[in-house]
Amino acid sequence: MVENSDLIIVGAGIVGLSSAYYIKKNNPDITIKVIDRASTFAQGNTGKSAAGFRNLFTSDINFKLSDSTTKFYRHVQEEMGIDLGMKFVGYLFLFGKNMPFWVDVMLERKIAVLKNPDDVFEDGILSKIPERESADLMSLQDVENTLYGPECGIIEPDLVSSFYYDECRKMGVEFQFSTEVKKVNMAPVQPLNFPGEPFIWQDKKIESLTTDRGDLTAERYIFATDVWTTGLLDPIGIDSHIRPKKRQVFQISGESIQRILFSCKLNDEHIIPFTILPKSGVYLRPAVKERSLWVGVADDLGRDFSFTEDPQAEEDFYNYNLRTIAESYFPGFKNSSMTAKWAGYYSYNTLDKTPWVFRFMNAVVATGTSGSGILKGDAIGRIVDAYFSGREKVQLYGGSEIPSSALDIKRERVEDEHVIL
Ligand SMILES: Cc1cc2nc3c(=O)[nH]c(=O)nc-3n(C[C@H](O)[C@H](O)[C@H](O)COP(=O)(O)OP(=O)(O)OC[C@H]3O[C@@H](n4cnc5c(N)ncnc54)[C@H](O)[C@@H]3O)c2cc1C
Repeated sequence: MVENSDLIIVGAGIVGLSSAYYIKKNNPDITIKVIDRASTFAQGNTGKSAAGFRNLFTSDINFKLSDSTTKFYRHVQEEMGIDLGMKFVGYLFLFGKNMPFWVDVMLERKIAVLKNPDDVFEDGILSKIPERESADLMSLQDVENTLYGPECGIIEPDLVSSFYYDECRKMGVEFQFSTEVKKVNMAPVQPLNFPGEPFIWQDKKIESLTTDRGDLTAERYIFATDVWTTGLLDPIGIDSHIRPKKRQVFQISGESIQRILFSCKLNDEHIIPFTILPKSGVYLRPAVKERSLWVGVADDLGRDFSFTEDPQAEEDFYNYNLRTIAESYFPGFKNSSMTAKWAGYYSYNTLDKTPWVFRFMNAVVATGTSGSGILKGDAIGRIVDAYFSGREKVQLYGGSEIPSSALDIKRERVEDEHVIL
C-alpha cells in the first residue's frame, strides 16, 4: 500500500516533534505525517535523557540554541500555563584550586556567578577529600570554587514532548506509530522506466520509504532519527556525520542521599543543583519525585563507538568509576543503593559537538545533538522549519536571529564546544 503526504517526518523524539510543530505552524495547508517505530512519542533517547537544561555553553551558537530553547520552555510553563516539569535549581560546577578557561566566558556573558562552596551546601554534606592513597592516585582536589548558572535546571522530557505532540495534533499533523522504516528508496526525478535506474547522470530524489506496514511516499522527508540516522542513510550513500556513544544514568537512593538532595542553600526548596564534580565530569542530577540522585558521566576515552539496539547500564561502571568519585566528595554516597539504571546513546558530532541540520535531495536531516537535544530542541525545530520553508534566517525565541545554515555540514566550522556533560 502506498500513501501520500506532502511531508513525512521519521522520528517522534523531541527533534521530530518540534520540527513538525514549526513546519505545520508556518505551512498550515500542507499534510504532515510523523512516523515512529515505537508505540508512542519520545520513546527513543528523548525518554532516556538525564533531562537537565542549561545555557552554559562556550560556543556562541550553542549558547544561542540553548538559551532560546530554555526561554521558550519557560514561556510555555509560566505564561501558557502548561507544566513542563521545569525547575530552576541551577547548574553547579565544582572546581579545585584551578578553574578552566571557559569560566571567564560564562562570567563575561553574565550567565553564571562564582560562589563559595560554604554558601551553597549545608554543613557536613560536601567533605574534604580524605587523605588516602587512592585520593592521590585519582588526583582528587578539594572543592575550592564553584560556578553557578541560575537560568539552568531540570525538566521532564515527556512533558515537553507532550506539549509539541498535543499542539501538532490540534493543527492536524498525523501520527503513525509502530511503523519502522526499513529502507529509504531513491528514484530519478524524471524516470525513463529503464531497468537499473537511477543512473548516475539522472537527478535523484527520495521517492518512498519501505516500512513494516507498507510503503509510504511524500514530496519531502525529514529524518529526525538521532543515532539511527546512520543505519537508514548509509545504504543510499548519505553520510550522517555522527557516531554513537553509550551514555548511562544510575538512580541512587537512601536516607543519606535524600539529605544531599535537599542540602542546598540557594533555593527555597533546598534542592541541590545539577552538580558537576571536579573529577572527570561526573554529574549528580536531583530526581525530586524519586527522592534520589541520578548519577552519570560523558566518559570519552575507553568508551567505544559501538551500537546495539538495547544498550544496558553497567553496574560495575557505576561502582568502580562514578561511585568512587561521588563518595569522595559526598560521603552520603557510602550508605546508598542503586534503585534504577538505564542506558541510551548520544549521537555525537565528533568534530565540534554541535547539532547538524542539513539538506540532501528532497530531504532534511536533523541529528548530532551530542547530548543536549532536549535543551536545544526548540531552536533545532525552528531551523529545520526554516530549511523546509526556504527561509535564509531563523528567528529564535527571544529575538536572536541566526542563518538557517548555521548547523549545516557545509557551514564554516564553528568553535569547539568545551562543556559537554
Ligand atoms: C543517558 C542520556 C542522558 C542525556 N541527558 C541529557 C540532558 O541532560 N539534557 C539534554 O538536553 N539532553 C540529554 N541527552 C540527549 C538527548 O536525550 C538527545 O539529544 C535527544 O533526545 C535527541 O532527540 P531526537 O529527537 O534527535 O532523538 P530520539 O528521541 O532518539 O528520537 C529518534 C526517534 O526516531 C525513531 N526511529 C529511529 N529509527 C527509526 C526507523 N527506522 N523507523 C521509525 N522510527 C525510527 C526512534 O524510535 C526515536 O523515537 C541525554 C541522552 C542520554 C542517552
